[in-house]
Amino acid sequence: MVTRADIGVIGGSGFYSLLDDAEEIELATPYGPPSDVVTVGRIGSRSVAFIPRHGRDHRFPPHRIPYRANLWALRSLGVGQVLAPSAVGSLQADYGPGTMVIPDQLVDRTSGRVQTYYDIDGAVHVSFADPYCPSGRAVAVRTAGAGNWQTVDGGTLVVIEGPRFSTRAESQWFAGNGWSIVGMTGFPEAVLARELALCYTSLCLVTDHDAGVEAGQGVTHDEVLEFFAQNVTRMRTLVAETVEALPEERTCPCGAALDGLKLPFDLP
Ligand SMILES: [Zn+2]
Repeated sequence: MVTRADIGVIGGSGFYSLLDDAEEIELATPYGPPSDVVTVGRIGSRSVAFIPRHGRDHRFPPHRIPYRANLWALRSLGVGQVLAPSAVGSLQADYGPGTMVIPDQLVDRTSGRVQTYYDIDGAVHVSFADPYCPSGRAVAVRTAGAGNWQTVDGGTLVVIEGPRFSTRAESQWFAGNGWSIVGMTGFPEAVLARELALCYTSLCLVTDHDAGVEAGQGVTHDEVLEFFAQNVTRMRTLVAETVEALPEERTCPCGAALDGLKLPFDLP
């Protein structure tokens, strides 16, 4: 394969416009095709592979996304670092819409999703105590802060199965545990990245408060739509700036996630 990329982005569509010299690649993986064709191009001096998480036509709901194929496809292109922007609900009253949370912890409340590559020929237990890349997190926090985002450095992302939203009781329970934000796609994406020894950084844009959060008067539906449209462009800019600021050399522990483990097959 000739086309290579250093950095992978899994996110909402609309990111294409940022990629120079973009080339579309149809990839097959042992786990089926990724969510869509992979677009490889450049942002500044960095080579980037982009996958629209839900497919261009948004055909995959969160619980049907081909997570394994997406991460495998990125690694097969040579990607070492992955950025994962997503929209989330807030569990904390002071994290209002527009807040950019760069979580450092994750709670898995999904069910029934395949969450490992290593389900044949013996167990492979990766460490997942710290699910996100420390280098990528630091860069994302710095870049968001410089870009005038209300930025939260750290916090816990709860990933629910969906596609339904949380009940009030679930939401209050999550918040009561001190968890920060809730989404539907952050898992198993994060653990599959770790299982391939990839750096993985989540950039979570708060779009609204979850059901259990008392946060003054609600916004109207029109305001939410307008808010979202304004922030999609900002989000794109943030991801592009973060891509350019990521370290060229990986000095974080992520690349050593599989050291000393016996793998049942070769990684791409
Ligand atoms: Zn890393």
